[in-house]
Amino acid sequence: MKIAVLSGKGGTGKTFVAVNLAAASAEPHSVYIDCDVEEPNGHLFFKPAKINTKPVHIKVPVVDEKLCNACRKCVDFCKYNALALVNDKPFVFDEICHSCGGCSLICPQNAISERDKKIGEIQTGISDNVNVITGMLEPGQESGVPIIKTMLSSQEANLGLTVIDCPPGSACTVMESIRDADYCILVAEPTLFGVHNLNIVYDLVKFFKKPHGVVMNKCLDTDNPVEVFCHRNDMKILAKIQFNKKLALMNSKALIAAREDNLYHDLFVSLLYKVKEEVQNEAITNS
Ligand code: SF4
Ligand code: SF4
Repeated sequence: MKIAVLSGKGGTGKTFVAVNLAAASAEPHSVYIDCDVEEPNGHLFFKPAKINTKPVHIKVPVVDEKLCNACRKCVDFCKYNALALVNDKPFVFDEICHSCGGCSLICPQNAISERDKKIGEIQTGISDNVNVITGMLEPGQESGVPIIKTMLSSQEANLGLTVIDCPPGSACTVMESIRDADYCILVAEPTLFGVHNLNIVYDLVKFFKKPHGVVMNKCLDTDNPVEVFCHRNDMKILAKIQFNKKLALMNSKALIAAREDNLYHDLFVSLLYKVKEEVQNEAITNS
């Protein structure tokens, strides 16, 4: 089962929920995948051992100027404007190339081949019963989608329970992260701004027709606009996590609350149970 954890912005507690869910699992091997490839931080909590690192490459075109006759077909074909003709010679802008491979196919002179370009790496490691997989995009690279695709198609990601820590917002990296998810947990803060951010990811999961529920984080005993929003839209509230100084301190020390404190262990076991139940009910409804 794949559970994606997402939020409309950073800092809501998305990684906190994803890390603790994976840590609270009773399965002998649960998997945590950090798809927030521009700023991964789940590994700071897990502190995995036995680290293994693999580079991730994309293909970018290389033009053989001796074969090229400056026909412009590749330039006109590239919808991303990653090719330009300068002094009758095609120039490739690697940074905005989407590696579609179309220009090499369309070139009548067979003047375009492809080379590997490193865009980042994937680290894997073990933290107790959790396989920790972390995607890291190199600074300046255009898109982390190829790294996310590689992680989510790996053998480890498709064995048992997999918790996907999505990037914040609703960009293409988030879409790629939730594409194969069985369930989406939307994390929100209990403020008006939190409603705005929740709405961003709510629209996304509705578009992808993903079963979903909400975890409210940092709740206080005051008005909660997010709760009102959830009731109005008939959204399932999975958990309300109270703001708590002890919890904030554990987070600031990069400790995993579910491993440190029975209260939080039970909270995340219960959340996991609710999500499993939701997924089973969804499967029965769709059968
Ligand atoms: S399509 Fe091929 S021959 Fe034409 S400009 Fe591009 S590289 Fe040169
Ligand atoms: S591979 Fe695709 S995106 Fe990249 S330059 Fe060629 S046509 Fe453009």
